[in-house]
Amino acid sequence: MIENRMFEEEPDVVDLAKESTTFPTSQALDPDDVVYEPRSSRLLVRGLGENDMDEDDEDCESSARLLGMSFMNRSAAHRSLSSPYTRQGAPRSCARPSARTLVVCMLFLVIVASMTMVLYFLPGCTFTRSGCPKTNTTIPFEKVYPVSTSGEVFPWAQLRLPRSIRPLSYDLTLNPDLDSMTFTGRTIIHMSVLHNTKCIVLHSAYLNITKATFKLGDGQARGVTVLEYKPREQIAVAFTEVLKTGQDCVLTLEYSANLSHTYDGFYNSSYTEKDGSKRVLAATQFEPLSARKAFPCFDAPDFKATFLIRIRRKPNHLSLSNMPKAKTTQLPNDVIEDEFEKTSVNMSTYLVAFIVANFTHISRNVSETQVSVYSVPEKWEHTDYALDTGCKLLEFYNGFFEINYPLKKLDLVAIPDFLAGAMENWGLITFRETSLLVGKQSSNLEKQVVASVIAHELAHQWFGNLVTMRWWNDLWLNEGFATYMQYMSLQTVFPQLDIGNLFLAVRFRALDKDALNSSHAVSTEVNKPEQVEEMFDSVSYEKGASILLMLNASLPGDQQFRKGIIQYLKEFSGLNTDTNDLWNSLTQVEVSAQHPNVSEMMSSWTSQKGFPLVTVSRKGGQVTLTQEHFRLTSDNATQTSSLWIIPVTYVTDNCSVAPECRRTFYLKTKSETLKELPESVKWVKVNYRNTGFYITHYEDGGWAALIDALSHNVSVLTHEDRASLVHNMFALSRLGRVSFHQVLHLLKYMSNETHTSPVTEALLQLGVIYRLLDKRQEHRLVARMKSYILHQFGSLMDKQTWEEEDSVSKQELRSALLGMACSLNEEKCISQSRALFKQYVESNGTSRIPGDLQQVVFTVAAQSNEDWATLLTMYGQATYDAEKRKMLRGLASTQDARLIVWVLKAGLRGDVIQTQELPLVISTVCNGFTGYLFVWDFIQENWDSLIEKFPVGSFAIQTIIKSATSHFSTQAHLDQVQGFFYSLRERGSQMRSVQEALETIRLNQRWMEKNLATLEKWL
Ligand SMILES: [Zn+2]
Repeated sequence: MIENRMFEEEPDVVDLAKESTTFPTSQALDPDDVVYEPRSSRLLVRGLGENDMDEDDEDCESSARLLGMSFMNRSAAHRSLSSPYTRQGAPRSCARPSARTLVVCMLFLVIVASMTMVLYFLPGCTFTRSGCPKTNTTIPFEKVYPVSTSGEVFPWAQLRLPRSIRPLSYDLTLNPDLDSMTFTGRTIIHMSVLHNTKCIVLHSAYLNITKATFKLGDGQARGVTVLEYKPREQIAVAFTEVLKTGQDCVLTLEYSANLSHTYDGFYNSSYTEKDGSKRVLAATQFEPLSARKAFPCFDAPDFKATFLIRIRRKPNHLSLSNMPKAKTTQLPNDVIEDEFEKTSVNMSTYLVAFIVANFTHISRNVSETQVSVYSVPEKWEHTDYALDTGCKLLEFYNGFFEINYPLKKLDLVAIPDFLAGAMENWGLITFRETSLLVGKQSSNLEKQVVASVIAHELAHQWFGNLVTMRWWNDLWLNEGFATYMQYMSLQTVFPQLDIGNLFLAVRFRALDKDALNSSHAVSTEVNKPEQVEEMFDSVSYEKGASILLMLNASLPGDQQFRKGIIQYLKEFSGLNTDTNDLWNSLTQVEVSAQHPNVSEMMSSWTSQKGFPLVTVSRKGGQVTLTQEHFRLTSDNATQTSSLWIIPVTYVTDNCSVAPECRRTFYLKTKSETLKELPESVKWVKVNYRNTGFYITHYEDGGWAALIDALSHNVSVLTHEDRASLVHNMFALSRLGRVSFHQVLHLLKYMSNETHTSPVTEALLQLGVIYRLLDKRQEHRLVARMKSYILHQFGSLMDKQTWEEEDSVSKQELRSALLGMACSLNEEKCISQSRALFKQYVESNGTSRIPGDLQQVVFTVAAQSNEDWATLLTMYGQATYDAEKRKMLRGLASTQDARLIVWVLKAGLRGDVIQTQELPLVISTVCNGFTGYLFVWDFIQENWDSLIEKFPVGSFAIQTIIKSATSHFSTQAHLDQVQGFFYSLRERGSQMRSVQEALETIRLNQRWMEKNLATLEKWL
């Protein structure tokens, strides 16, 4: 999956602050203190950790056993805070137990036996096999256990499913009714018993099960009762007899449900055609936890199985699924049933997909695969670019991975209502329309967005689909890899799209987020549904991709990394893995004698949160490198001695630009000395081309020497190195290692800078400070900041043209420069924008605004109420979605309070503005002065509606929280934000993004306190 805002916009940098002394934190909201609880768990006794059970204890033979388990689990919870969910251990095996284990087991059995006896003789409860269902106030333990909807004891007490049963194949029939927005379904699951058990537990959510039959081996099918425990979205069938290891069985479930009105599960979507007619369709989005909303299943990534899918539809629709269509049957009442081939591969449930719609398509063959692009009929002319790009990338990946894409078809489908950017369902990749459709006259910058999303999703067909993470704690194995491959493949296949600047910016943003105490390790514990949702964040995607780049850059030659991942894909094809499996595969590639063990080196990057600050100090020819954890928030609780094995690369003034200049030193301890540097060297630049995931500080005149060199000739360093100096300097100012005066001193060199990445990085960082000052109503400083930016970048702004431009890099540069100029009300920029808009409106569609300038032009237009109304009309009529989104951002950038409120409400209603765009609307409104407080009120008032549309923890909710709070820098706002989220309790208070928001406000607050005086002096 790729989240929509991850690739198309510069995320706001929010963490303007420096290291602070400890400050009081809310007891309830302190990251380490938050108690995670299920959304609506009926477990009434605290301490029965859903996550506290050992794998070895999974069974469901009787309530007595359950009682024993709960007893033990409570003890286990006291013993250790670690959860077994971070790793899925091997299924129960017959390893010889140690003497200590035997003693512990004996003790445990005695306790279980005693408790069972006590319970048995308790009055009022006949201890039956189905538990002790009757209400009986004399039994203190009764409430401990999950009670199913029917009132019976539910035979499983963990969030993750037991591993005694393995699904082999699913036979699904789905019958959606797009008039009543309901569907019925039948799921036949063939399973194998891995361990003796008396129950089958699987997932189901919001499905009304109407009939259930069960067949064991060659026996007769018989009716069975299905128990449901809604808080964990689980159902179970309990048996009186034991299902024995090695037996096969079949469970058939018939059910009915409503099509979902959100963006996950089997959901309905509609769109209006040009002639005003409304069309409806149904599509799926299952990752991470929503396959269970469409069919009962073992909904976890490591329960892979094959799928045979049948979809019923009306003749005016078509249906699509993962596999090619095998046959079509006419049924009574004008219903058609399409049957798709059984999947030729074992697949995780989150990758299953089906669509019923009246789409049109274009197709082309690439080796053995038919690639097609589907869209609503009136947008079919926007599909050519996606087809061409998809085919080229498929060919590239087939060659690169040396494993051919395994299916006979690959469909890329643009869905009118789609929350994420795209989803990699095997053989049926679904996209937001803006991530797939490209207008005939689109700029290369717009093509870059579409190509990178396609590249990301195609990479998933190998990383994720073929080899899948075992559990969501290692989501980065899917997302970090797909993100890395997306940039790597585009650099090779479409060099004209110049993806390098974007990848560099993405790495800077990943550092900014990971510098917060509220960040998490790449591979981290995940226990709750909300935590699964929250794994879809910049650490899994962007830090994941960054550390893969760092590893690749540290290996000798350009093929070692590729060899390692081919080996990994071949070894684990069709299976599930964890992070260690990847590092072990990569450890087998050839490395130089100095290169540390790959597994050892990379584990230091995936197992701990944050990244190192490398300080370079120099005494003559002796250069010392020291590492420490780069932490914006000093927190005694996390004062650990984190160490990383860092492949430190560096260049010097003797040789600094060509790849051969690069030297590598492995910093494995706290501090080490570089010996081979001659004393005549004037300066050292560490982290060549910013391929390492760390920040560098230069002591003893190191910064001054670099700034001096740049002021004479910017070309002494690559543009990535220059951009990384800018980024690192701002980050160090937040940390308090350098003064803001030093930041301004570095930026002086920029009067000679013409390359995109250093300029866009500086503008982004200055823009954040500008907006914070603006919102604190520091009018004098705002005016001085404005004149500083216009003075510093004025000549470069003046040089920008307003005509069509081919180079992506130049488009990025001018859209950033002109965007900043117009937002500062620079006269020339405003008048040029207005003129272009006028020309555009008056030409009736014949004249065009260059794609990369549309955002600037629409934003300026939206500041006049008359043009805002024109823009709204244009928005309603536009069919090309990339352009439409820019109009929407224009509309949301108005500074008219009434219009802001209208835009927010329209986004929530979802009629004029699609609800999927609400996160974008909110973040745009928050950038402006007028709207950010409205948004904060809006979110508080509408929180329940928001989490009904976007799941708690989802990327959309993360974006909304971050946008709404990152502009705050006062104690009053901190108290408000803290108070509001605390009051939400299970409706959101436990989210990591809430911790991030609070930390960011505190950091903003402290940065302001510390730097306002400096700004007064130096700006
Ligand atoms: Zn993805």
